[in-house]
Amino acid sequence: MNPLGFAAAAALGNIVGALAVVRHLRRGLSFIDACLAFGAGFMLAVTVLGVMPQVLDGSPGAALYVLIGYFAVHVAQHVFTPHFHFGEETHWVSPAAGRSALLGLMLHTFFDGVAIASGFLVSGRLGILLFLAVLLHKLPEGVTIASVMVAGGWSRGRAVGAAAVLGGATVLGVLLTEQIAPLARHGLALSAGVTLYVAASNLVPEFQAKRGWLTALAFVGGAAGFFLTELLLQGWLH
Ligand SMILES: [Zn+2]
Ligand SMILES: [Zn+2]
Repeated sequence: MNPLGFAAAAALGNIVGALAVVRHLRRGLSFIDACLAFGAGFMLAVTVLGVMPQVLDGSPGAALYVLIGYFAVHVAQHVFTPHFHFGEETHWVSPAAGRSALLGLMLHTFFDGVAIASGFLVSGRLGILLFLAVLLHKLPEGVTIASVMVAGGWSRGRAVGAAAVLGGATVLGVLLTEQIAPLARHGLALSAGVTLYVAASNLVPEFQAKRGWLTALAFVGGAAGFFLTELLLQGWLH
């Protein structure tokens, strides 16, 4: 399967998350919620251990693009959107909030695709690791956009459509990475900043208030999952 196939599979995660919201699949939603901490730990480990050494290898200056990627997501989610946070929207929001949340999330989901494509440009192993990191948060991402649309009074069809648009932005990210020169050069560094933001600043706050060892174990377990996956890929790809 090529990077485009992986991006399409990840994009499907957005739609599945949205369907869980509009079909009121409570069990599915609590499963997605339970996987959040694991996904965050996995993403963090892929970024810090898998991507960062690759980004800095031979070009320490590339660290600047990591920072730019991080701040770009923050600006997109906080300046242009009146109300946005990750996780299921459970209170009323204005109809405009749904539309602006979609816009705010599009930059991030575009870079989900850039991350996958840039990973595959380095190696199949890094590409698959980044695909998994993206896939693991695609479900909560679909839940986020669909629930904020529904809470803003949009129809269920529109809510699933919005999730499909986010998935489409990810596919577009893969398609454009090699076409746009700055993306081909700095895509991996920029998307490392984006992934860092999504893991540490979008996902972690979702379970920040939870006490006890279970969530903490899932979070650290996500990082352990990275080591395990890398081990499996080493055996499988060579
Ligand atoms: Zn809210
Ligand atoms: Zn994403």
